[in-house]
Amino acid sequence: MEIIAVHGGLDTSRDRQFMEVLEEAAQQGYKLLATDRVQAMEAVIRVLEDSPKFNCGYGSILNLDGEVEMDAAIVDGVTNRFAAIAAIRLVNNPISVARRLMEKTEQVIVAGDGAVKFARQQGFPEANCVSEEQLDAWQKAKESLARGETPTQNLFTGLEYHADTVGCVVWDGKGLGAASSTGGFSLKMPGRVGDTPCLGGGIFASPTSATVCTGVGEAFIETLTAKYVDEQIVSGLHPQQAVEFALRRLADLKGTEGGILTMDAEGRIGSAFNAGRFPVVFLVNGKVQKDFKPVNLKPELTLN
Ligand code: ASP
Repeated sequence: MEIIAVHGGLDTSRDRQFMEVLEEAAQQGYKLLATDRVQAMEAVIRVLEDSPKFNCGYGSILNLDGEVEMDAAIVDGVTNRFAAIAAIRLVNNPISVARRLMEKTEQVIVAGDGAVKFARQQGFPEANCVSEEQLDAWQKAKESLARGETPTQNLFTGLEYHADTVGCVVWDGKGLGAASSTGGFSLKMPGRVGDTPCLGGGIFASPTSATVCTGVGEAFIETLTAKYVDEQIVSGLHPQQAVEFALRRLADLKGTEGGILTMDAEGRIGSAFNAGRFPVVFLVNGKVQKDFKPVNLKPELTLN
């Protein structure tokens, strides 16, 4: 059995235009899953980074200085290998840089200028990641700030018809893996790093489970939420129960929004969120499970 689940981040619409890209990403990964789990995850995330619709790669949300700085990570639950790129600029596919780091070095996280330098050394060309739409939204947000007003732009997507951080979990019949990529959130501090490249915070994979998270990264890091999900599954919980426990805990401890997607070594999936929207595509043996929807806990959780 081969399974891939892909999410489009918090406050991402379930409109066809977004679901189709998520489905395409899952299908691209499926083509490679039987031969190479890590390559398959990279392929899933690359489709989403290449789409201007998602908050990763080109079309990422801008930081306070009007720049795109991206985080991406990949983790293999079988080999226990992890690699992440943090606050990288001027590359199309941070996830591919992360995979290269995993394959070519023994180091697990590179950030900022060092990450850009590594990417260039590895032959990744300079690329503009700032889209016109995100630049416009950023200019409006900065004008609001200058007037002393709170910007109305969506924290996670930046634009009304846009999507957020992306992530996937895979099961190839032998083992699990997780990968994720993001531009972070709107008006973040330059150099800020979120939970996506933090193992145990926003991403985790082991022989037991693979997990990716989306939401305010600081909250996921401080609560080690992705690792917590794994611990719940190790202790015998169904993945769905595990993500619901983890989201309730996140809301209790941090009063914040989030979305979590997990899979266990039986290929059972868990996904829940407590925000506006959280689209997930679930592919089993190449077939999209059309009725699948993550559980919305928003009505029962009180947030700050
Ligand atoms: N978790 C990401 C971050 O904090 C943002 C997101 O998921 O929207 O960088």
